[in-house]
Amino acid sequence: MENSAHAVPPQPHETSPFNRPPSTRELKDRVHQVQRELESIFHSLLESRRRAQGVHAKLKTGNLKLSLELPQPGSGGHSSDQLYVQLQNTAERYANRLASMPLGQIYCHWCRSFYCEHASPPEPRSVFGGYTPTGQPTWPEFVSVLLERRHPRVDSIFGSAPSFITVLHPGHELSRKQLPIYGKSSPICRVLGQVSVGYLIFPDSLSLPRTSPAQRTPLALTFQVVDAGGSSLILNVVGKLPDGTPAFQAFEESWDTRLADALHSTRRSLEEISLLKTSRKSRARERSRLVMGALHNLEKNLDRIFRQRERRTQHSQERHANRKRPTSTAFRDALEASAEAIFRDVEEQTWVVIGPKNRVHVFNDQARHVTSIVYSGETVRARTTRGKWHKPRAEERTAFQQALERLTQGE
Ligand SMILES: [Zn+2]
Repeated sequence: MENSAHAVPPQPHETSPFNRPPSTRELKDRVHQVQRELESIFHSLLESRRRAQGVHAKLKTGNLKLSLELPQPGSGGHSSDQLYVQLQNTAERYANRLASMPLGQIYCHWCRSFYCEHASPPEPRSVFGGYTPTGQPTWPEFVSVLLERRHPRVDSIFGSAPSFITVLHPGHELSRKQLPIYGKSSPICRVLGQVSVGYLIFPDSLSLPRTSPAQRTPLALTFQVVDAGGSSLILNVVGKLPDGTPAFQAFEESWDTRLADALHSTRRSLEEISLLKTSRKSRARERSRLVMGALHNLEKNLDRIFRQRERRTQHSQERHANRKRPTSTAFRDALEASAEAIFRDVEEQTWVVIGPKNRVHVFNDQARHVTSIVYSGETVRARTTRGKWHKPRAEERTAFQQALERLTQGE
């Protein structure tokens, strides 16, 4: 095969033009590539966790034990998240070891712990409401905070499409009732100020996929600036998702990069504030003024992101009110779709068809219509290029298209 010496070598995941099985050499190269990729992903996760927790020291890295569940070829019935969860948890463990506080938790001065039952919100609608006289965190529902403050837009929070509201709290308000012996000015954990926001509709507002079509839960979040005795101030994101996991992870995983950008820019301001050098007394006052300024900017950013999203959600709800139209549009788009517009959502085990104007239609394996959503072009690009939606094999795609045709002819 002298001619092939000048040919482009086959890409690792393409089958060779002669349909021979990949050689051991090729397989070994592919594993090397995956290993390098995993190392680089782990370091990126670690780096983002290090920044989020205000850890400045270099993190020592060591061994990472990964376990991989290998199903029968073609069975597909295993979690596609299994490696990611292990990488993520390990990065978090490494960073927590050096951080002055764990993200997503708040210190309970009564139990002297970041991990007691009072240290995190009990449910998705809860925000941090300050400390009791004996230093226990309180977790009122966001709407109670609005009612207590006689917020002018409190009425709009009730109803089927609750509007998005933000509230800024200075730190002294949150520790007003707290007694000095129960940590009022404790160096372990002092909240210098916070923005509480609600209600987002989880998971839609965070551009995360729904695990079941019916699952939509109102979610409130608290963004707080904490002095936990470390060298820099920490931006803590506190909230509880319906499945009990901390909200900050979902926030970091959101496809909407504007969220991550908003947090990043606040963290940068906090780094600058941490470097402030003046006399001790005027320093505290100046620092608290700057912290409230940074939180106010964050509040404006969040308001811009989520209010805009709220308007979009209302539009799509109006479209869904007319159920016949989106379904027939979905079938028309799907029948007219080119091969490049048909993707497989491996995790959800569904077919995804990208129609005109970023209409995204989801079908099950029997080609039955599950749902239609309009995404931003950015989101569509991210999901098709970063792997959430995969290119299917040609024969699988053809089978799906045939099922579509059978179904639409039968109706
Ligand atoms: Zn406690």
